[in-house]
Amino acid sequence: MTSSFSNLSLAEPLARAVAEMGYESMTPIQEQAIPVVLTGQDVMGAAQTGTGKTAAFSLPLLQRLLKHESSSTSPARHPVRALVLLPTRELADQVAQQIALYAKYTKLRSTVVFGGMDMKPQTIELKKGVEVLVATPGRLLDHIEAKNAVLNQVEYVVLDEADRMLDIGFLPDLQRILSYLPKQRTTLLFSATFSPEIKRLASSYLQNPITIEVARPNETASTVEQRFYSANDDDKRRAIHQVLKSRGIKQAFIFVNSKLGCARLARSLEREGLKTTALHGDKSQDERLKALEAFKSGEVDLLVCTDVAARGLDIKDVPAVFNFDVPFNAEDYVHRIGRTGRAGASGLAVTLVSGSDARLVADIEKLIKKKIDLEAIEYEEDQPRGRINDGRRAWREAGETGDGRDALPAAPAAPRRERDQRVGREGREQHRGFRPAVASRDPFFEKPYEASAAADATPAWEAAKSAPRSSVSANIKPKRKVAALFKAAQPETSVQ
Ligand code: AMP
Repeated sequence: MTSSFSNLSLAEPLARAVAEMGYESMTPIQEQAIPVVLTGQDVMGAAQTGTGKTAAFSLPLLQRLLKHESSSTSPARHPVRALVLLPTRELADQVAQQIALYAKYTKLRSTVVFGGMDMKPQTIELKKGVEVLVATPGRLLDHIEAKNAVLNQVEYVVLDEADRMLDIGFLPDLQRILSYLPKQRTTLLFSATFSPEIKRLASSYLQNPITIEVARPNETASTVEQRFYSANDDDKRRAIHQVLKSRGIKQAFIFVNSKLGCARLARSLEREGLKTTALHGDKSQDERLKALEAFKSGEVDLLVCTDVAARGLDIKDVPAVFNFDVPFNAEDYVHRIGRTGRAGASGLAVTLVSGSDARLVADIEKLIKKKIDLEAIEYEEDQPRGRINDGRRAWREAGETGDGRDALPAAPAAPRRERDQRVGREGREQHRGFRPAVASRDPFFEKPYEASAAADATPAWEAAKSAPRSSVSANIKPKRKVAALFKAAQPETSVQ
């Protein structure tokens, strides 16, 4: 961070808000993007979460909208001028909160709409008139069709976390929304990576964009210490206990690959005495916001989450991130560990690798262009060392050669469930001492997976089939039906 906000000649109300936030100097994305957005040019920005990109687009956008400030109470004087689209409810909420803080000394109005909440209060806000509308695509379409949101005066559109919006399957919704907007506008697209799909999206909807890359896509922050520990599936919780204890870590994110795993792991850790909460797509909006608040306030120490649920969450200073499951998609590794080591603080990213994860680890190696050394964990309790190393040995045997890259073959051929059962049995025999005495007695673990009772009663895909488009939609669209959860081994079944 080098230059100061005072170099920007921001209007006084915006400068005051920034000063109040305690920002002293601009982050690299702000330094590069703000002057460009102030000129009204389209931008294609590659920036990791936590780089300050919300301020990078919203401050110049608000500055350009100041000419429309109006103290009139008439909704007609407050049409939507800027639209910010995000993939998840939490992210939309977070960005809207930031924008409201930056705009607090202006007369510009902002609001947020996302699914999982009653449409009525959102409708009331929209009807009053807002200049800046932050939204997730599904719910925005509901409001457009209910004629609550009129977008024909939009001058700016921001597609934030665009790669994730495409991953979730929002492309058709985005295309529809963009078709309602005036052709003459500024479009800003932010994405963690510039995949071919993102480039295609940009070439369809952006005009001569200025490309801004603050960190090379796929680059991991140098402030994050990355450790890869071998751990059989049955050892993983024990590994978490050990790392937390030996490093004196108070709070951490723990990433898992499925909602099922998320709920169960949170439950297990909680029962083992760690203050834990879970964040995944089957939680009701209210539960998710509460989980976040509990983590932010320090009421809980561990937040177990899935990739979609956690993407872009602005929780600062998380000292550590655990990958309980190696992510199916190597890019998610970069996103996950981006939760720690933010804004120059140091962070720890621990990935727990079982014998069947060789191919996934090789993908990460390729993406981050760093050799991954798999280590054994030194457990404090008496444990037969050779057994603890099993996962590591299996991984090495699975094909590490010379420099450990590229030559790693595919993971062992046994289906995941079968492997898990096998490893599970072996693990139980090897580490009998660790299992909490009550572990298998909780009926929760005997039950098949069920979505939280508080979550929407009708699954999103059913609601989408049966309800007319204008009714309340479930905002986040799962790619597949719940049955997919039970085939966690296949990368294509990744769920939010
Ligand atoms: P973002 O990447 O937009 O999610 O921002 C991550 C966090 O960085 C947010 O909590 C912002 O309030 C904070 N932030 C943004 N810009 C700055 C800055 N220039 N100096 C310090 N903190 C900042």
